[in-house]
Amino acid sequence: MQPFVYNSLPGKVVFGRGTLAQVGEEVRALGCSRALVLTTPRQEGVGQALAAQLGDLAAGIFSGAAMHTPVEVTERAMAAVSETGADCVVAIGGGSTTGLGKAIALRTDLPQVVIPTTYAGSEATPILGQTENGVKTTQRGAQILPEVILYDVDLTLTLPPALTVTSALNAIAHSVEGLYSPDANPLISLLAEDGIRALVSALPRIVAQPSNVEARSDALYGAWACGVTLGVVGMALHHKICHTLGGTFDLPHAETHSVILPHAMAYNARAAADAMAKVARAIGKDDAPRGMWDLSKQLGAPMTLAELGMPRDGIARAVELALANPYWNPEPLEAGRLTTLLEGAWEGRPPREME
Ligand code: NAD
Repeated sequence: MQPFVYNSLPGKVVFGRGTLAQVGEEVRALGCSRALVLTTPRQEGVGQALAAQLGDLAAGIFSGAAMHTPVEVTERAMAAVSETGADCVVAIGGGSTTGLGKAIALRTDLPQVVIPTTYAGSEATPILGQTENGVKTTQRGAQILPEVILYDVDLTLTLPPALTVTSALNAIAHSVEGLYSPDANPLISLLAEDGIRALVSALPRIVAQPSNVEARSDALYGAWACGVTLGVVGMALHHKICHTLGGTFDLPHAETHSVILPHAMAYNARAAADAMAKVARAIGKDDAPRGMWDLSKQLGAPMTLAELGMPRDGIARAVELALANPYWNPEPLEAGRLTTLLEGAWEGRPPREME
């Protein structure tokens, strides 16, 4: 056994079907009585229904959450916090809504109940990415970590198959990088591998039948496992590249993760052989990067940065930015290899292991 340090995170997790009925109980258990419900414009109906269910416990609703947590949106939500006298937030939605709840908690230390409806995993992490003037910055902090996560499988039945696939690949990326992280520890590595296995086994069943409750349940469990991994251990090249591409070229979050993942895995395959063996075992393939690429293709995920709207002449800028702030990665970061990685991902070529 390798030496390790494990710093576990606090938090309550409620997982099941129909658990949404318990939100009021969770709000009261936090000692709160005025919840501000958060959601996106697209899920406003879900937010309204939740506010109605909370009755007197709902102080109001803010349905302006947006991707990459723009600071101007947070400022509007902060005005709603003041106007309503909210003493907690209840965020119902994907990573964008969770991000808004975290941004409010960072500024106010209000407790958060998060009800995830995608597989992004943000609910299990003390990490917040915020965007201001087109620049995305990330920070960690105890205040950012949600107090309660309420997983209700029923809420994920409406997640469209395309978003299901990319969101799940986003989650899988947390575990892949967690497995080769220098902070990896035996407990989280078990969870990371099982999270990948659960998601990969669920995805074909969900694509075939989006309302398959058992498959949705497996996927949501997998998302939690991958989210816990992201919260506890450090990430590397894959997350840094996706962060750079998302912030610089305004690319969609989960889709960018889907396209980059097999290529980032190939970049690190030689230096992270043990982690790749675990991923290969979890996805039931011999070769982890190629297996992940094949799987994405079969599931209908986007395969090129071009189709996400990245200009080809942006590759040089992305490489420059990826090298600007050095960070740990299994394989050394090198401009030529990063260019090969991004060209492959831009065109949608099968991933190539680095020579
Ligand atoms: P999202 O939250 O932006 O959701 C995408 C769209 O799908 C939204 O319009 C949303 O309302 C809708 N949607 C969500 N669930 C639905 C459902 N069940 N049925 C129908 N529609 C639904 O997308 P996301 O990929 O979950 O989150 C991306 C954001 O999360 C990014 O800003 C990213 O940076 C952040 N994130 C943060 C962390 C972290 O630890 N800090 C981790 C992962 C993602």
